[in-house]
Amino acid sequence: MEDQQIIIRNIEAVQRRIEKACVKAGRCPNEVTLLLATKTVPVEKILIALESGCGIIAENKVQEVREKYTSLAHSPHVNHFIGHLQSNKIKDLLKYNISCIQSIDNFELAEKLDQRLSITDRKMNIYIQVNTSDEESKYGVHPAEALSLIRQISLLKNVQITGLMTIGILSNESEKVRTCFKLLKNLQKQIIEANIPNVSVRELSMGMSGDLEIAIEEGATTIRVGTAIFGQRPTPDSYYWTEYESHNTQ
Ligand SMILES: *Cc1c(COP(=O)(O)O)cnc(C)c1O
Repeated sequence: MEDQQIIIRNIEAVQRRIEKACVKAGRCPNEVTLLLATKTVPVEKILIALESGCGIIAENKVQEVREKYTSLAHSPHVNHFIGHLQSNKIKDLLKYNISCIQSIDNFELAEKLDQRLSITDRKMNIYIQVNTSDEESKYGVHPAEALSLIRQISLLKNVQITGLMTIGILSNESEKVRTCFKLLKNLQKQIIEANIPNVSVRELSMGMSGDLEIAIEEGATTIRVGTAIFGQRPTPDSYYWTEYESHNTQ
């Protein structure tokens, strides 16, 4: 089969999975947004997905944004950023049309982003990435520190917290995965109760190719899917998700 047929077929299959999970959870399918995680995926394949009606894409590395986004600019869509962001790459990232950074997990990064945005009087939505799986190597703020981080960031004028993001534990035991998503949902409740000015965490970005059903059952509003649509990636996820990058790139 051609790339185009495969991608279209895969998108339809994911949409059916979303619908089924929503029915099971008593939710409406249009409460769940499908975001395409496009790391390592070439421009041609991303364009096929955009033409098939997918509206949001996201990269993990500024390098890939730089390589791809100029060629995608003429195809209507929204860009998010979901990878570990080094503060010295913020300036470069902001040259591209990014609407939301989902991976903010420390104050220094938020502050630098805020400063950069203020130069052009620009505002940006951000999500706070939480490490719900308790794996030391993974990015994300520790759940116990999330509320105080959010209070701190809420004082910045040019970034607006609109959601929370997490990567569930990679495990065959669905209850372990579910625990991660429940934790994020509970955190959302706590933050809403805290009623912090300038903060509204209505978005819960959680669930990927392998665990999107569980995430939807636990309240995901955005699921981030790569493999189920574009196929297996050549690089291991540890290259993107953990601090051990240099060991895994070869
Ligand atoms: C790669 C990636 C995804 C998608 O993972 P798949 O298992 O390929 O669906 C989701 N979120 C983040 C942060 C990612 O890096």
